[in-house]
Amino acid sequence: MTYRSVVSALSILALLAPPLSAQDAADGVAPEGAGGDVSAFDALSDAAQAAIASKQAGEPVLAENWMVAAANPLAVEAGAAVLRDGGTAADAMVAVQAVLGLVEPQSSGLGGGAFLVWYDAKSGELTTLDGRETAPMAVTPTLFQDDAGEPLGFFDAVVGGLSVGTPGTPKLMEVAHRKWGRANWGRLFDPAISLAEDGFTVSDRMATSIANDAERLGRFADTASYFIPDGTPLAAGTVLQNQDYADVLRMIAANGADAFYSGPVAADIVSAVQNAEGNPGVLAASDLAAYDVVERAPVCVPFRSADVCGMGPPSSGALTVGQILGMLNVYDLSAMSPDDPEAWRLIGDASRLAFADRGRYMADSDYVPMPTKGLVDDQYLVDRATLLDREDALPEVAPGNPGWDHASLWADDISLELPSTSHISIVDQYGNALSMTTTIENGFGSRVFVRGFLLNNELTDFSFRTHVDGVPIANRIEPGKRPRSSMSPTIVMEDGAPTLVIGSPGGSRIIGYVAQAIVAHMAWDMDIQQAVSMAHLVNRFGTYDIEEGSDLVSLEGPLTDMGFEVNIRGLNSGLHAIDIDGGLLGGADPRREGIAIGE
Ligand code: GLU
Repeated sequence: MTYRSVVSALSILALLAPPLSAQDAADGVAPEGAGGDVSAFDALSDAAQAAIASKQAGEPVLAENWMVAAANPLAVEAGAAVLRDGGTAADAMVAVQAVLGLVEPQSSGLGGGAFLVWYDAKSGELTTLDGRETAPMAVTPTLFQDDAGEPLGFFDAVVGGLSVGTPGTPKLMEVAHRKWGRANWGRLFDPAISLAEDGFTVSDRMATSIANDAERLGRFADTASYFIPDGTPLAAGTVLQNQDYADVLRMIAANGADAFYSGPVAADIVSAVQNAEGNPGVLAASDLAAYDVVERAPVCVPFRSADVCGMGPPSSGALTVGQILGMLNVYDLSAMSPDDPEAWRLIGDASRLAFADRGRYMADSDYVPMPTKGLVDDQYLVDRATLLDREDALPEVAPGNPGWDHASLWADDISLELPSTSHISIVDQYGNALSMTTTIENGFGSRVFVRGFLLNNELTDFSFRTHVDGVPIANRIEPGKRPRSSMSPTIVMEDGAPTLVIGSPGGSRIIGYVAQAIVAHMAWDMDIQQAVSMAHLVNRFGTYDIEEGSDLVSLEGPLTDMGFEVNIRGLNSGLHAIDIDGGLLGGADPRREGIAIGE
Protein backbone atom coordinates (compact mmCIF):
# COMPACT_ATOMS: atom_id res chain seq x y z
CA MET A 1 0.00 0.00 0.00
CA THR A 2 1.26 3.48 -0.80
CA TYR A 3 1.08 6.55 1.44
CA ARG A 4 -1.20 8.08 -1.15
CA SER A 5 -3.79 5.33 -0.88
CA VAL A 6 -3.93 5.76 2.88
CA VAL A 7 -4.31 9.48 2.48
CA SER A 8 -6.94 9.35 -0.22
CA ALA A 9 -8.97 6.78 1.72
CA LEU A 10 -8.92 9.15 4.66
CA SER A 11 -9.90 12.17 2.59
CA ILE A 12 -12.91 10.31 1.27
CA LEU A 13 -13.74 9.15 4.78
CA ALA A 14 -13.61 12.71 6.03
CA LEU A 15 -16.10 13.85 3.44
CA LEU A 16 -18.58 11.09 4.15
CA ALA A 17 -19.29 12.13 7.75
CA PRO A 18 -19.98 8.68 9.24
CA PRO A 19 -22.63 8.44 11.98
CA LEU A 20 -21.64 8.84 15.60
CA SER A 21 -20.55 5.55 17.18
CA ALA A 22 -21.79 4.59 20.63
CA GLN A 23 -18.27 5.00 21.98
CA ASP A 24 -17.96 8.48 20.51
CA ALA A 25 -21.35 9.42 21.88
CA ALA A 26 -20.23 8.29 25.32
CA ASP A 27 -17.06 10.31 24.89
CA GLY A 28 -19.02 13.41 23.98
CA VAL A 29 -17.09 13.52 20.72
CA ALA A 30 -18.46 15.25 17.69
CA PRO A 31 -18.48 12.93 14.68
CA GLU A 32 -15.90 13.35 12.04
CA GLY A 33 -16.59 15.00 8.76
CA ALA A 34 -17.04 18.53 7.55
CA GLY A 35 -13.33 18.31 6.89
CA GLY A 36 -13.46 20.56 3.92
CA ASP A 37 -17.09 21.57 3.57
CA VAL A 38 -16.82 24.92 1.87
CA SER A 39 -20.54 25.70 1.99
CA ALA A 40 -20.44 27.07 5.53
CA PHE A 41 -17.49 29.26 4.66
CA ASP A 42 -18.56 30.91 1.41
CA ALA A 43 -17.45 34.37 2.55
CA LEU A 44 -13.84 33.27 2.79
CA SER A 45 -10.86 34.88 1.08
CA ASP A 46 -9.25 33.38 -2.01
CA ALA A 47 -6.33 32.23 0.14
CA ALA A 48 -8.68 30.32 2.44
CA GLN A 49 -10.57 28.79 -0.50
CA ALA A 50 -7.26 27.71 -2.01
CA ALA A 51 -6.23 26.22 1.33
CA ILE A 52 -9.45 24.21 1.54
CA ALA A 53 -8.92 22.93 -2.02
CA SER A 54 -5.37 21.97 -1.22
CA LYS A 55 -6.45 20.05 1.88
CA GLN A 56 -9.12 18.22 -0.11
CA ALA A 57 -6.48 17.29 -2.67
CA GLY A 58 -4.22 15.98 0.11
CA GLU A 59 -1.50 18.51 -0.71
CA PRO A 60 0.40 20.74 1.72
CA VAL A 61 -0.05 24.52 1.49
CA LEU A 62 3.18 26.23 0.44
CA ALA A 63 4.52 29.63 1.53
CA GLU A 64 7.76 31.53 1.93
CA ASN A 65 7.42 34.07 4.72
CA TRP A 66 4.75 33.19 7.22
CA MET A 67 2.04 30.64 7.88
CA VAL A 68 -0.78 29.93 10.29
CA ALA A 69 -2.67 26.65 10.71
CA ALA A 70 -5.65 26.22 13.02
CA ALA A 71 -9.03 24.53 13.35
CA ASN A 72 -11.39 27.03 11.72
CA PRO A 73 -10.94 29.06 8.51
CA LEU A 74 -12.34 32.26 10.04
CA ALA A 75 -9.78 32.08 12.83
CA VAL A 76 -6.97 31.29 10.40
CA GLU A 77 -7.94 34.29 8.26
CA ALA A 78 -7.79 36.55 11.32
CA GLY A 79 -4.30 35.27 12.11
CA ALA A 80 -3.19 35.60 8.48
CA ALA A 81 -4.25 39.25 8.39
CA VAL A 82 -2.09 39.98 11.44
CA LEU A 83 0.92 38.17 9.97
CA ARG A 84 0.48 39.89 6.61
CA ASP A 85 0.54 43.25 8.39
CA GLY A 86 3.89 42.46 9.99
CA GLY A 87 2.61 41.03 13.25
CA THR A 88 4.49 38.30 15.06
CA ALA A 89 3.32 34.76 15.74
CA ALA A 90 2.33 35.89 19.25
CA ASP A 91 0.19 38.70 17.82
CA ALA A 92 -1.47 36.33 15.37
CA MET A 93 -2.19 33.81 18.13
CA VAL A 94 -4.20 36.44 20.04
CA ALA A 95 -6.36 37.10 16.97
CA VAL A 96 -6.76 33.37 16.22
CA GLN A 97 -7.70 32.49 19.80
CA ALA A 98 -10.21 35.33 20.05
CA VAL A 99 -12.00 34.07 16.91
CA LEU A 100 -11.79 30.38 17.89
CA GLY A 101 -13.59 31.20 21.15
CA LEU A 102 -16.48 32.46 19.02
CA VAL A 103 -16.63 30.05 16.08
CA GLU A 104 -15.41 26.87 17.80
CA PRO A 105 -16.74 27.53 21.33
CA GLN A 106 -17.00 23.81 22.11
CA SER A 107 -13.21 23.46 22.05
CA SER A 108 -11.39 26.47 23.51
CA GLY A 109 -11.86 30.04 24.64
CA LEU A 110 -11.50 32.67 27.33
CA GLY A 111 -12.90 30.28 29.93
CA GLY A 112 -10.19 27.67 29.37
CA GLY A 113 -6.45 27.05 29.54
CA ALA A 114 -3.57 26.51 27.13
CA PHE A 115 0.08 25.63 26.75
CA LEU A 116 2.36 27.50 24.35
CA VAL A 117 5.81 26.60 23.02
CA TRP A 118 7.77 29.52 21.54
CA TYR A 119 10.90 29.60 19.41
CA ASP A 120 12.43 33.04 19.48
CA ALA A 121 14.32 33.79 16.29
CA LYS A 122 16.28 36.65 17.83
CA SER A 123 17.67 34.79 20.82
CA GLY A 124 17.56 31.32 19.25
CA GLU A 125 15.87 30.09 22.42
CA LEU A 126 12.92 27.90 23.05
CA THR A 127 10.59 28.45 25.98
CA THR A 128 7.11 27.45 27.13
CA LEU A 129 4.21 29.23 28.78
CA ASP A 130 1.93 27.32 31.12
CA GLY A 131 -1.54 28.84 31.01
CA ARG A 132 -3.16 25.78 32.59
CA GLU A 133 -6.20 26.19 34.81
CA THR A 134 -5.62 25.97 38.57
CA ALA A 135 -7.73 24.27 41.24
CA PRO A 136 -9.54 26.82 43.42
CA MET A 137 -8.03 27.23 46.89
CA ALA A 138 -11.24 25.91 48.46
CA VAL A 139 -11.10 22.43 46.85
CA THR A 140 -10.85 19.41 49.12
CA PRO A 141 -9.58 15.91 48.24
CA THR A 142 -13.15 14.60 48.06
CA LEU A 143 -14.33 17.15 45.45
CA PHE A 144 -15.16 14.43 42.93
CA GLN A 145 -16.36 11.77 45.36
CA ASP A 146 -19.82 10.93 46.66
CA ASP A 147 -20.79 10.62 50.33
CA ALA A 148 -19.45 7.07 50.41
CA GLY A 149 -16.05 8.21 49.09
CA GLU A 150 -16.65 6.66 45.67
CA PRO A 151 -15.70 8.62 42.51
CA LEU A 152 -18.56 10.49 40.84
CA GLY A 153 -19.64 9.45 37.35
CA PHE A 154 -17.62 11.42 34.78
CA PHE A 155 -20.41 13.64 33.48
CA ASP A 156 -21.88 14.10 36.98
CA ALA A 157 -18.58 15.80 37.80
CA VAL A 158 -18.16 17.64 34.49
CA VAL A 159 -21.48 19.43 34.04
CA GLY A 160 -21.88 22.43 36.34
CA GLY A 161 -19.64 24.55 38.53
CA LEU A 162 -17.74 21.80 40.35
CA SER A 163 -15.27 21.08 37.55
CA VAL A 164 -14.37 24.71 36.74
CA GLY A 165 -10.74 25.68 37.28
CA THR A 166 -9.37 29.22 37.20
CA PRO A 167 -9.05 30.02 33.47
CA GLY A 168 -5.57 30.69 32.10
CA THR A 169 -6.08 31.55 28.43
CA PRO A 170 -6.74 35.32 28.72
CA LYS A 171 -3.62 35.78 30.82
CA LEU A 172 -1.56 33.60 28.48
CA MET A 173 -2.65 35.71 25.51
CA GLU A 174 -1.55 38.83 27.35
CA VAL A 175 1.78 37.45 28.57
CA ALA A 176 2.69 36.10 25.11
CA HIS A 177 1.82 39.44 23.52
CA ARG A 178 3.75 41.40 26.14
CA LYS A 179 6.84 39.23 25.66
CA TRP A 180 6.83 38.73 21.90
CA GLY A 181 4.15 40.89 20.30
CA ARG A 182 4.66 44.06 18.26
CA ALA A 183 1.11 44.79 17.06
CA ASN A 184 -1.32 46.99 18.93
CA TRP A 185 -2.97 44.72 21.55
CA GLY A 186 -6.45 46.19 21.24
CA ARG A 187 -6.60 45.88 17.44
CA LEU A 188 -5.93 42.13 17.63
CA PHE A 189 -9.49 41.63 18.87
CA ASP A 190 -11.10 43.53 15.95
CA PRO A 191 -11.79 40.49 13.71
CA ALA A 192 -13.42 38.56 16.56
CA ILE A 193 -15.44 41.59 17.67
CA SER A 194 -16.71 42.17 14.11
CA LEU A 195 -17.65 38.53 13.65
CA ALA A 196 -19.40 38.48 17.03
CA GLU A 197 -21.37 41.66 16.32
CA ASP A 198 -22.12 41.18 12.63
CA GLY A 199 -22.68 37.46 12.98
CA PHE A 200 -20.74 34.43 11.76
CA THR A 201 -21.99 31.32 10.01
CA VAL A 202 -22.33 28.31 12.32
CA SER A 203 -20.17 25.53 10.86
CA ASP A 204 -21.20 21.92 10.35
CA ARG A 205 -18.91 20.82 13.12
CA MET A 206 -20.22 23.33 15.65
CA ALA A 207 -23.83 22.46 14.76
CA THR A 208 -23.24 18.71 15.02
CA SER A 209 -21.48 19.14 18.36
CA ILE A 210 -24.43 21.14 19.70
CA ALA A 211 -26.98 18.61 18.46
CA ASN A 212 -25.05 15.76 20.08
CA ASP A 213 -24.85 17.58 23.41
CA ALA A 214 -28.26 19.24 23.48
CA GLU A 215 -29.43 17.56 26.68
CA ARG A 216 -26.44 18.77 28.73
CA LEU A 217 -26.39 22.23 27.12
CA GLY A 218 -30.07 22.49 27.91
CA ARG A 219 -29.53 22.23 31.67
CA PHE A 220 -28.51 25.88 32.12
CA ALA A 221 -30.74 28.73 30.97
CA ASP A 222 -28.00 31.01 29.58
CA THR A 223 -26.28 28.13 27.78
CA ALA A 224 -29.54 26.88 26.33
CA SER A 225 -30.69 30.25 25.06
CA TYR A 226 -27.47 30.70 23.05
CA PHE A 227 -26.94 27.18 21.70
CA ILE A 228 -30.53 25.92 21.62
CA PRO A 229 -32.64 29.01 20.97
CA ASP A 230 -36.39 28.26 21.15
CA GLY A 231 -35.54 24.68 22.00
CA THR A 232 -33.90 23.90 18.65
CA PRO A 233 -30.14 23.26 18.45
CA LEU A 234 -28.44 25.81 16.19
CA ALA A 235 -28.28 24.52 12.63
CA ALA A 236 -25.27 24.72 10.33
CA GLY A 237 -25.48 27.81 8.18
CA THR A 238 -27.26 29.90 10.84
CA VAL A 239 -25.82 33.40 11.17
CA LEU A 240 -25.12 33.81 14.86
CA GLN A 241 -24.29 36.95 16.82
CA ASN A 242 -22.72 37.08 20.26
CA GLN A 243 -22.85 40.62 21.61
CA ASP A 244 -21.88 39.56 25.15
CA TYR A 245 -18.66 38.05 23.83
CA ALA A 246 -17.91 41.16 21.78
CA ASP A 247 -18.40 43.28 24.92
CA VAL A 248 -15.95 41.15 26.95
CA LEU A 249 -13.39 41.31 24.13
CA ARG A 250 -13.75 45.10 24.02
CA MET A 251 -13.03 45.24 27.75
CA ILE A 252 -9.95 43.03 27.38
CA ALA A 253 -8.84 45.01 24.33
CA ALA A 254 -9.05 48.24 26.32
CA ASN A 255 -7.82 47.12 29.74
CA GLY A 256 -5.90 43.89 29.24
CA ALA A 257 -6.50 40.56 30.95
CA ASP A 258 -7.28 42.35 34.24
CA ALA A 259 -10.68 43.09 32.74
CA PHE A 260 -11.27 39.36 32.88
CA TYR A 261 -9.62 38.46 36.20
CA SER A 262 -11.24 41.23 38.26
CA GLY A 263 -14.31 43.44 38.06
CA PRO A 264 -17.71 42.53 36.63
CA VAL A 265 -16.56 39.69 34.31
CA ALA A 266 -14.79 37.91 37.19
CA ALA A 267 -17.80 38.49 39.44
CA ASP A 268 -20.12 36.90 36.88
CA ILE A 269 -17.81 33.90 36.45
CA VAL A 270 -17.71 33.31 40.20
CA SER A 271 -21.46 33.71 40.54
CA ALA A 272 -22.15 31.30 37.65
CA VAL A 273 -19.85 28.67 39.17
CA GLN A 274 -21.08 29.00 42.74
CA ASN A 275 -24.73 29.05 41.73
CA ALA A 276 -24.66 26.40 39.00
CA GLU A 277 -27.90 24.53 39.50
CA GLY A 278 -27.44 21.05 40.88
CA ASN A 279 -23.65 21.11 40.84
CA PRO A 280 -22.20 24.29 42.31
CA GLY A 281 -18.43 24.80 42.46
CA VAL A 282 -16.00 26.61 44.74
CA LEU A 283 -14.13 28.98 42.39
CA ALA A 284 -13.75 32.37 44.15
CA ALA A 285 -12.83 35.91 43.11
CA SER A 286 -9.53 35.47 44.97
CA ASP A 287 -8.63 32.51 42.70
CA LEU A 288 -9.11 34.67 39.61
CA ALA A 289 -7.20 37.58 41.11
CA ALA A 290 -4.25 35.32 42.00
CA TYR A 291 -3.97 33.55 38.63
CA ASP A 292 -0.62 33.66 36.86
CA VAL A 293 0.98 32.15 33.79
CA VAL A 294 4.21 30.27 34.47
CA GLU A 295 7.19 30.28 32.10
CA ARG A 296 8.92 26.91 32.13
CA ALA A 297 11.86 25.26 30.39
CA PRO A 298 10.84 23.00 27.49
CA VAL A 299 11.30 19.23 27.66
CA CYS A 300 13.38 18.00 24.69
CA VAL A 301 14.13 14.44 23.62
CA PRO A 302 16.40 13.42 20.72
CA PHE A 303 14.74 11.61 17.81
CA ARG A 304 16.77 10.77 14.72
CA SER A 305 18.76 13.90 13.82
CA ALA A 306 16.47 16.26 15.75
CA ASP A 307 15.28 17.27 19.21
CA VAL A 308 11.56 17.00 19.81
CA CYS A 309 10.64 19.75 22.26
CA GLY A 310 7.43 20.51 24.06
CA MET A 311 5.52 21.14 27.23
CA GLY A 312 6.72 19.62 30.48
CA PRO A 313 4.68 19.23 33.68
CA PRO A 314 1.86 19.83 34.41
CA SER A 315 1.47 18.42 30.92
CA SER A 316 2.44 14.82 30.39
CA GLY A 317 2.65 15.65 26.67
CA ALA A 318 6.33 16.19 25.93
CA LEU A 319 7.47 13.56 28.41
CA THR A 320 5.19 10.85 27.00
CA VAL A 321 5.71 11.78 23.32
CA GLY A 322 9.43 11.95 24.14
CA GLN A 323 9.46 8.55 25.84
CA ILE A 324 7.71 6.93 22.86
CA LEU A 325 10.07 8.49 20.32
CA GLY A 326 13.11 7.88 22.53
CA MET A 327 12.34 4.15 22.70
CA LEU A 328 11.58 3.98 18.96
CA ASN A 329 14.89 5.67 18.25
CA VAL A 330 16.60 2.41 19.22
CA TYR A 331 14.92 0.69 16.23
CA ASP A 332 15.14 1.63 12.55
CA LEU A 333 11.55 2.52 11.71
CA SER A 334 12.60 4.05 8.41
CA ALA A 335 13.49 0.55 7.20
CA MET A 336 9.87 -0.49 7.77
CA SER A 337 6.87 0.64 5.75
CA PRO A 338 3.88 2.47 7.30
CA ASP A 339 1.73 -0.65 6.96
CA ASP A 340 4.28 -3.07 8.45
CA PRO A 341 2.78 -4.74 11.56
CA GLU A 342 6.25 -4.86 13.08
CA ALA A 343 6.49 -1.06 13.02
CA TRP A 344 3.14 -0.86 14.79
CA ARG A 345 4.12 -3.49 17.34
CA LEU A 346 7.05 -1.27 18.30
CA ILE A 347 4.99 1.92 18.32
CA GLY A 348 2.14 0.27 20.24
CA ASP A 349 4.30 -1.23 22.95
CA ALA A 350 6.54 1.85 23.27
CA SER A 351 3.28 3.75 23.87
CA ARG A 352 2.09 1.27 26.48
CA LEU A 353 5.37 1.53 28.36
CA ALA A 354 5.27 5.33 28.20
CA PHE A 355 1.64 5.48 29.38
CA ALA A 356 2.51 3.21 32.32
CA ASP A 357 5.10 5.76 33.46
CA ARG A 358 2.70 8.60 32.75
CA GLY A 359 0.02 7.11 35.00
CA ARG A 360 2.47 6.52 37.84
CA TYR A 361 4.73 9.54 37.84
CA MET A 362 3.36 12.51 35.89
CA ALA A 363 1.48 15.44 37.48
CA ASP A 364 2.03 19.06 38.46
CA SER A 365 5.68 19.01 39.54
CA ASP A 366 5.17 22.23 41.51
CA TYR A 367 3.09 20.08 43.88
CA VAL A 368 4.54 16.58 43.75
CA PRO A 369 8.14 15.48 43.32
CA MET A 370 8.60 14.04 39.83
CA PRO A 371 11.49 12.28 38.09
CA THR A 372 11.18 14.68 35.16
CA LYS A 373 14.76 14.27 33.95
CA GLY A 374 14.88 10.56 34.74
CA LEU A 375 11.80 9.87 32.62
CA VAL A 376 13.52 11.03 29.44
CA ASP A 377 17.07 10.10 30.34
CA ASP A 378 18.82 8.52 27.32
CA GLN A 379 19.98 5.41 29.14
CA TYR A 380 16.63 4.90 30.84
CA LEU A 381 14.84 4.96 27.48
CA VAL A 382 17.39 2.63 25.89
CA ASP A 383 16.83 0.20 28.78
CA ARG A 384 13.06 0.45 28.44
CA ALA A 385 13.40 -0.05 24.67
CA THR A 386 15.18 -3.39 25.14
CA LEU A 387 11.86 -4.70 26.46
CA LEU A 388 10.57 -4.28 22.90
CA ASP A 389 13.22 -6.59 21.49
CA ARG A 390 10.82 -9.50 20.86
CA GLU A 391 8.28 -10.72 18.32
CA ASP A 392 4.95 -10.36 20.07
CA ALA A 393 3.15 -7.76 22.13
CA LEU A 394 4.41 -7.42 25.69
CA PRO A 395 2.27 -9.72 27.82
CA GLU A 396 2.48 -7.30 30.73
CA VAL A 397 3.41 -3.65 30.97
CA ALA A 398 4.41 -1.91 34.19
CA PRO A 399 5.91 1.47 35.02
CA GLY A 400 9.70 1.57 35.05
CA ASN A 401 12.06 2.98 37.66
CA PRO A 402 13.38 6.25 36.27
CA GLY A 403 16.16 7.99 38.17
CA TRP A 404 14.91 10.26 40.94
CA ASP A 405 16.44 13.27 42.55
CA HIS A 406 14.68 12.07 45.66
CA ALA A 407 12.53 9.01 46.15
CA SER A 408 8.76 8.98 46.29
CA LEU A 409 6.12 6.35 45.91
CA TRP A 410 3.01 6.99 43.85
CA ALA A 411 0.03 4.87 43.00
CA ASP A 412 -1.17 4.63 39.40
CA ASP A 413 -3.44 7.42 38.29
CA ILE A 414 -7.11 6.96 37.55
CA SER A 415 -8.41 9.80 35.44
CA LEU A 416 -10.19 10.17 32.19
CA GLU A 417 -9.66 12.77 29.49
CA LEU A 418 -12.10 13.03 26.66
CA PRO A 419 -11.54 15.01 23.51
CA SER A 420 -12.39 18.55 22.52
CA THR A 421 -9.59 21.15 22.35
CA SER A 422 -7.82 22.91 19.44
CA HIS A 423 -4.29 23.33 18.14
CA ILE A 424 -2.68 26.43 16.59
CA SER A 425 0.66 26.39 14.71
CA ILE A 426 2.22 29.66 13.50
CA VAL A 427 5.49 30.79 11.90
CA ASP A 428 5.99 34.52 11.33
CA GLN A 429 8.14 36.47 8.83
CA TYR A 430 10.78 37.05 11.53
CA GLY A 431 11.35 33.32 11.93
CA ASN A 432 9.59 32.95 15.29
CA ALA A 433 7.56 29.77 15.73
CA LEU A 434 4.58 29.17 18.01
CA SER A 435 2.87 25.91 18.91
CA MET A 436 -0.17 26.23 21.19
CA THR A 437 -2.77 23.72 22.28
CA THR A 438 -5.82 25.34 23.83
CA THR A 439 -8.80 23.78 25.57
CA ILE A 440 -11.86 24.00 27.76
CA GLU A 441 -11.41 20.20 28.27
CA ASN A 442 -14.62 18.32 27.38
CA GLY A 443 -16.71 19.42 24.37
CA PHE A 444 -18.44 22.61 25.71
CA GLY A 445 -16.45 22.29 28.96
CA SER A 446 -18.61 22.57 32.08
CA ARG A 447 -21.53 23.75 29.89
CA VAL A 448 -21.69 26.86 32.11
CA PHE A 449 -21.93 29.91 29.83
CA VAL A 450 -21.04 33.38 31.09
CA ARG A 451 -21.07 36.59 29.05
CA GLY A 452 -20.83 34.77 25.74
CA PHE A 453 -18.17 32.17 26.54
CA LEU A 454 -18.06 28.72 28.15
CA LEU A 455 -16.23 27.83 31.34
CA ASN A 456 -13.85 24.85 31.36
CA ASN A 457 -14.24 21.54 33.21
CA GLU A 458 -10.46 21.14 33.47
CA LEU A 459 -10.54 19.97 37.11
CA THR A 460 -11.84 16.60 35.92
CA ASP A 461 -8.35 16.02 34.47
CA PHE A 462 -7.35 15.34 38.10
CA SER A 463 -7.70 11.81 39.41
CA PHE A 464 -11.12 11.46 41.10
CA ARG A 465 -9.54 9.23 43.75
CA THR A 466 -6.67 10.54 45.85
CA HIS A 467 -5.17 7.22 47.01
CA VAL A 468 -4.99 3.56 46.07
CA ASP A 469 -4.63 1.24 49.07
CA GLY A 470 -3.26 4.10 51.16
CA VAL A 471 -0.69 5.15 48.53
CA PRO A 472 -1.23 8.69 47.21
CA ILE A 473 -1.82 9.38 43.49
CA ALA A 474 0.48 12.06 42.05
CA ASN A 475 -2.34 13.66 40.03
CA ARG A 476 -4.75 14.00 43.00
CA ILE A 477 -6.55 17.31 43.44
CA GLU A 478 -5.04 19.96 45.75
CA PRO A 479 -5.68 23.71 46.20
CA GLY A 480 -3.88 25.78 43.54
CA LYS A 481 -2.58 22.72 41.69
CA ARG A 482 -2.78 22.33 37.90
CA PRO A 483 -4.40 19.14 36.58
CA ARG A 484 -2.20 16.85 34.52
CA SER A 485 -2.67 17.35 30.81
CA SER A 486 -1.89 15.41 27.65
CA MET A 487 -1.63 18.46 25.47
CA SER A 488 1.53 18.24 23.39
CA PRO A 489 2.28 21.47 21.57
CA THR A 490 5.59 20.60 19.93
CA ILE A 491 8.45 22.27 18.07
CA VAL A 492 11.05 19.98 16.50
CA MET A 493 14.53 21.53 16.45
CA GLU A 494 17.44 20.65 14.22
CA ASP A 495 20.83 22.37 14.47
CA GLY A 496 19.35 25.00 16.75
CA ALA A 497 16.50 25.97 14.39
CA PRO A 498 12.86 24.87 14.23
CA THR A 499 11.94 22.38 11.51
CA LEU A 500 8.42 21.35 12.50
CA VAL A 501 5.60 22.95 14.49
CA ILE A 502 2.83 20.52 15.42
CA GLY A 503 0.12 19.56 17.90
CA SER A 504 -3.41 18.17 18.15
CA PRO A 505 -6.51 17.88 20.29
CA GLY A 506 -7.74 14.45 21.31
CA GLY A 507 -7.59 13.96 25.09
CA SER A 508 -4.87 11.51 26.04
CA ARG A 509 -4.83 10.28 22.42
CA ILE A 510 -3.10 13.58 21.60
CA ILE A 511 0.15 11.89 22.60
CA GLY A 512 -0.28 9.10 20.06
CA TYR A 513 -1.45 11.44 17.29
CA VAL A 514 1.56 13.74 17.70
CA ALA A 515 4.13 10.95 18.08
CA GLN A 516 2.73 9.15 15.02
CA ALA A 517 2.72 12.25 12.81
CA ILE A 518 6.34 12.93 13.78
CA VAL A 519 7.29 9.34 12.91
CA ALA A 520 5.37 9.55 9.61
CA HIS A 521 7.08 12.78 8.63
CA MET A 522 10.58 12.11 9.93
CA ALA A 523 11.03 8.34 9.56
CA TRP A 524 8.64 7.58 6.71
CA ASP A 525 9.31 10.76 4.73
CA MET A 526 5.67 11.69 4.31
CA ASP A 527 5.01 15.31 3.46
CA ILE A 528 3.30 17.21 6.23
CA GLN A 529 -0.22 16.88 4.80
CA GLN A 530 0.24 13.13 4.35
CA ALA A 531 1.60 12.87 7.89
CA VAL A 532 -1.42 14.58 9.46
CA SER A 533 -3.91 12.80 7.19
CA MET A 534 -2.67 9.24 7.52
CA ALA A 535 -4.78 6.67 9.34
CA HIS A 536 -4.25 6.60 13.11
CA LEU A 537 -3.32 3.75 15.37
CA VAL A 538 -3.23 4.68 19.05
CA ASN A 539 -2.38 2.61 22.10
CA ARG A 540 -2.79 4.21 25.52
CA PHE A 541 -2.09 1.19 27.68
CA GLY A 542 -5.38 -0.49 26.84
CA THR A 543 -6.83 -1.48 23.51
CA TYR A 544 -4.89 -0.81 20.32
CA ASP A 545 -7.25 1.57 18.52
CA ILE A 546 -7.21 1.56 14.71
CA GLU A 547 -9.02 4.25 12.75
CA GLU A 548 -12.33 3.07 11.40
CA GLY A 549 -12.71 3.18 7.60
CA SER A 550 -9.00 3.53 6.90
CA ASP A 551 -6.75 1.17 4.92
CA LEU A 552 -4.85 0.36 8.09
CA VAL A 553 -7.75 -1.69 9.48
CA SER A 554 -5.91 -4.43 7.61
CA LEU A 555 -3.55 -4.44 10.60
CA GLU A 556 -6.30 -5.76 12.87
CA GLY A 557 -5.43 -9.40 12.17
CA PRO A 558 -1.63 -9.19 12.46
CA LEU A 559 -1.75 -7.07 15.63
CA THR A 560 -4.33 -9.38 17.21
CA ASP A 561 -2.10 -12.34 16.39
CA MET A 562 0.77 -10.58 18.17
CA GLY A 563 -1.35 -10.40 21.32
CA PHE A 564 -2.76 -6.87 21.20
CA GLU A 565 -6.42 -6.29 21.99
CA VAL A 566 -7.50 -4.37 18.88
CA ASN A 567 -10.44 -2.00 18.61
CA ILE A 568 -11.63 -0.33 15.38
CA ARG A 569 -13.09 3.14 16.05
CA GLY A 570 -13.24 6.73 14.89
CA LEU A 571 -10.12 8.63 15.92
CA ASN A 572 -10.82 12.30 15.97
CA SER A 573 -7.48 14.10 15.82
CA GLY A 574 -7.09 17.75 14.80
CA LEU A 575 -3.44 18.01 13.82
CA HIS A 576 -2.20 21.35 12.52
CA ALA A 577 1.40 21.47 11.46
CA ILE A 578 3.98 23.58 9.67
CA ASP A 579 7.06 21.98 8.17
CA ILE A 580 9.93 24.47 7.95
CA ASP A 581 12.16 23.24 5.18
CA GLY A 582 13.61 26.19 3.31
CA GLY A 583 10.03 27.31 2.68
CA LEU A 584 6.96 26.64 4.77
CA LEU A 585 4.61 23.70 4.18
CA GLY A 586 1.32 23.55 6.05
CA GLY A 587 -0.85 20.55 6.88
CA ALA A 588 -4.38 20.60 8.30
CA ASP A 589 -6.22 17.56 9.60
CA PRO A 590 -8.94 16.36 7.18
CA ARG A 591 -10.93 15.16 10.20
CA ARG A 592 -11.73 18.78 11.17
CA GLU A 593 -12.49 22.08 9.48
CA GLY A 594 -9.05 23.65 9.82
CA ILE A 595 -6.75 25.01 7.16
CA ALA A 596 -3.27 26.49 6.76
CA ILE A 597 -2.75 29.86 5.09
CA GLY A 598 0.63 31.35 4.25
CA GLU A 599 2.39 33.78 1.95
N1 GLU B 1 -8.12 18.34 28.90
C1 GLU B 1 -7.24 17.60 28.08
C2 GLU B 1 -5.81 17.85 28.46
O1 GLU B 1 -5.48 18.87 28.91
C3 GLU B 1 -7.38 17.91 26.64
C4 GLU B 1 -8.71 17.49 26.18
C5 GLU B 1 -8.76 17.21 24.73
O2 GLU B 1 -7.82 17.19 24.01
O3 GLU B 1 -9.86 17.00 24.30
O4 GLU B 1 -5.01 17.00 28.27
